[in-house]
Amino acid sequence: NRRILLVNRPKGMPEESDFKTVESPIPEPKDGEVLIRTVYLSVDPYMRGRMRDVKSYVPPFSLNEAITGGVVGQVEASEHPGYRAGDLVTGMAEWADYSVVKGEDLNRVQNDPVPASTALSVLGMPGLTAYFGLLDIGQPKKGETVVVSGAAGAVGTVVGQIAKLKGCRVVGIAGSRKKTDFLTKELGFDAAVNYKEDDVPNALKKACPNGVDIYFDNVGGEVSDAVIRLINHQARIPICGQIALYNLEKPDDGPRIQSQLLINSALMKGFIVRDYRDRFKEGMAQLTEWVSQGKIQYRENVVQGLDHTVKAFQGLFKGENLGKQLVKVSEI
Ligand code: NDP
Repeated sequence: NRRILLVNRPKGMPEESDFKTVESPIPEPKDGEVLIRTVYLSVDPYMRGRMRDVKSYVPPFSLNEAITGGVVGQVEASEHPGYRAGDLVTGMAEWADYSVVKGEDLNRVQNDPVPASTALSVLGMPGLTAYFGLLDIGQPKKGETVVVSGAAGAVGTVVGQIAKLKGCRVVGIAGSRKKTDFLTKELGFDAAVNYKEDDVPNALKKACPNGVDIYFDNVGGEVSDAVIRLINHQARIPICGQIALYNLEKPDDGPRIQSQLLINSALMKGFIVRDYRDRFKEGMAQLTEWVSQGKIQYRENVVQGLDHTVKAFQGLFKGENLGKQLVKVSEI
């Protein structure tokens, strides 16, 4: 059983040498536990925060222990009455070939009509993040302009499509022409800005002739400063992520934007998807309906093999993924 441990707390961009793969025997489930074989594992930007030894909404990873995150797995052996060998499940498990997990912490998933991998993308944590952040904090209304950064990623692709369903003008910001073309040509965004090549303030102004009513912020930094200069009266700004800052060693002070909020009576609110756990059922039901009706498309960027996990994780910070980044570890 290969397991990937965190052996150093990364400085700046995480390096291969911050991780170490070790071999250990396949663990055995005890009473109430289930042994799962990893089929897909999820690499997520928030994990970078857990690699620091600081207080946050989830505790830091311990050094010399396996990284844990969202997985889809297949039950190999079960000491829990609710599961038997062959079942497909999702939950938190190790970056490893096999993990032992408490049965009560798992949820069953299907591989049909949509692939089980969607439990880690559109029908999982990223989809729910988009759903609640946009609908609960953003409160989109027909005809409003919604800007989303990190638009071609796991959360951003869903935010933009829900905003379109609500009748909004949708503008995405992403880091390559391939991504901006994907947003406008395949997902139906009204416009997209390539923040690495375009003149961002001008391109945004052109893309948002009526200003910005909702800014769904996945990235922070200068991209967000440029959007916030264009907000309208009573704009809403759900703060979902700040990926542009995650690898910085010193805080980025940036321009002060509070006056923009003041003069526009705007709302800026951070949130963690778990805040909405009491409503996950509702969110899942709605997302499942939209996906099954073809109203929301999903894209997954799958790399093959546990050995590529660290590279896939690093790729999040280089923009290598279009859609949700997953690692396929074994076959169903
Ligand atoms: P993505 O699938 O969007 O992958 C990350 C993307 O971020 C990359 O593809 C890259 O795209 C972009 N990016 C990387 N570095 C930078 C940078 N310096 N400046 C601007 N863009 C950058 O990830 P997720 O959809 O899973 O997550 C998106 C955001 O939402 C993250 O900030 C994450 O932490 C947050 N999040 C928050 C949750 C919550 O509960 N609040 C839950 C889930 C996610 P590009 O090519 O466009 O640069």
